[in-house]
Amino acid sequence: MKYVSTRDNNKKVTSSFAIAHGISDEGGLFMPETVPHLTENDFNKLCGMEYTDRATYILGKYLTDFSEDEINYCVKSAYSGSFENDEPAPLKAISNNTQMLELWHGPTCAFKDLALQLLPYLMVTAAKKQSDGKKIVILVATSGDTGKAALDGFCDVENTEIIVFYPSDGVSHIQKLQMTTQAGKNVHVYGIEGNFDDAQSGVKRIFTDEKIKTVLAENGFVFSSANSINWGRLAPQIIYYISAYCDMLNQGKDLSDGFNVVVPTGNFGNILAAYYAKMMGAPIKKLICASNKNNVLTDFINTGIYNRNRKFYTTISPSMDILISSNLERMLYILSNGDSDYVTELQSSLKETGRFEINKEMKEKFSSEFYGGCCDDEETLKTIKNTFNEYGYLLDTHTAVALCVYKNYVKETGDKTTTVIASTASPYKFTKSVLSSISEDIPEDEFEALEKLSQITKTLVPKQILALKDRTVRFDEVISKDNLEKAVLNSLGI
Ligand SMILES: *Cc1c(COP(=O)(O)O)cnc(C)c1O
Repeated sequence: MKYVSTRDNNKKVTSSFAIAHGISDEGGLFMPETVPHLTENDFNKLCGMEYTDRATYILGKYLTDFSEDEINYCVKSAYSGSFENDEPAPLKAISNNTQMLELWHGPTCAFKDLALQLLPYLMVTAAKKQSDGKKIVILVATSGDTGKAALDGFCDVENTEIIVFYPSDGVSHIQKLQMTTQAGKNVHVYGIEGNFDDAQSGVKRIFTDEKIKTVLAENGFVFSSANSINWGRLAPQIIYYISAYCDMLNQGKDLSDGFNVVVPTGNFGNILAAYYAKMMGAPIKKLICASNKNNVLTDFINTGIYNRNRKFYTTISPSMDILISSNLERMLYILSNGDSDYVTELQSSLKETGRFEINKEMKEKFSSEFYGGCCDDEETLKTIKNTFNEYGYLLDTHTAVALCVYKNYVKETGDKTTTVIASTASPYKFTKSVLSSISEDIPEDEFEALEKLSQITKTLVPKQILALKDRTVRFDEVISKDNLEKAVLNSLGI
C-alpha cells in the first residue's frame, strides 16, 4: 500500500516513509491511497483474538512494508504490561444501549497512550528502513495530553530526541506537572505564551522551514512529528473502534442496525480514526462529533463553512481548545475524492483568510455521516453531576462534553441505536473541575482535591497521578511563541 499527500496526490511514499517523516514537505498530510476492507471472515477471525493480535492484524493491512514480525514486536512491546489488566480499551456499559470505551488505562491516563505507546516502536522500525542514520527529533505541540503521552512513549528511546511545547496557561495543573517532571535524557519541555493553535502553528512552521531543516541535517538530525498529523498516530486509533465492535458482538449484542460512535473532538484525529473503522467495514451509523465552546467543527458540519475567526475560549476541557483542527485536512481529501488541488486551495484560504467553504456535494456527504454538536462548561459540569448521580459513573470533562452532545442528539433525533462513547481521559487529570461538579468545597491543594474526589466517588486515584506529588519539576522555562526555533536549536545543542 502506498501513501499520498493530501496536497500532492502524485507523491507516493511507503508507510515507513510516512511515519518516519510525519508530514509531507509541501505541508500536506500522508494518507493511505486506498482503504483496506475487512470481510465477514476477517471480522470472525478478529472476534476470536485478544487486543494485541487484533492490533497486529489491522496494522498489517496498512503498514505493508513492515514485516509481520516487526509489527508484532512493536505491538507487543507497546501494549503488554503498560495498561491496567492488560486491557488497553475496555467497554463499560452505563445503560442498555450506551457503552463507554475507556481509553485511559495507560501510563498517562489519556487515550493518547494507545497511539503513543506504539508510535516510538513504529518510528524506530521505520527509520531503520529509511536508513539515513540520522537522529530523529520529535516536535510536539500539545493541548495537554499528547505532550505527556509522547514524552512517556519516547523517553530514552534510542536515536531520538523529543521536544514538547504546551500553552503555559492552557493545561490543567496535573497535566503540567506530568510534563514538567518528566524523566529521561532525551526529553525537553517548554511552556509557551500563547494557546494551542500558536504552539501547533509554530511547530508546523518549523516542519516546513528549509533553513532550519538544513541546519539540522548538517548536525545529523531529522524532524518528525508525534502529533496526529503523523499517520503512525492515526492507524493505532482505528484498532480500538474495530475491537469495540468485536467485543460487542462477543457479548451477543444485536448490531444489525449498526452502532453510533461519539467522540469528544479537538484535532479531529480520534473521530477520523473512527471513520476509517467505518470505511474498513465496521457498521458505524452516525459519527457524532462533540465540541466544547470552541465549536468551529459544529458550525462546519452544519454549514459547510469553516471559520476560525472567532473568540478562543479557555475551557475546562483544555485538550479540545482548538480552532485549527489539523486532521480535518484528511477528511477534506476523502470528501473531495482525493482532489489534492482542491484541498491545497482550501488550506491556503484557511491560512490567508482564516476560513473556507466546501462545495455542496462535499457538505452533503459530510453531514449525512457526521452529526456535530457542542456544549459549554456549565452543561459539561451538569453532565458530570447527573451521570454520577444517575449511573454512579464518573466522567472526565472531555468525555462529559461527548455525553452531553449525545444526549442532545438523542433528544433531537430519537435515535436509540447502540452507541459507543469514546471516554478519553481519567477524571483525575481534571480533578478540580470534576470535583466542583459534585462538591461545594474544593481544597486549594491539588493532592487534597484528589483525595476528596476519591472519597466522595469511591473511585481510585490512578497511581501514576498520585506519584506526581513526590517528583521535582525539571522544566520550568516559558518562552515567547516566536521563539520555538531557538528553543529547538538550544535543546539539540546546536
Ligand atoms: C486529545 C484529546 C481529545 C481530542 O482528540 P482529537 O483526536 O484531537 O480530536 C479529547 N479528549 C482528550 C482527553 C484528549 O486528550
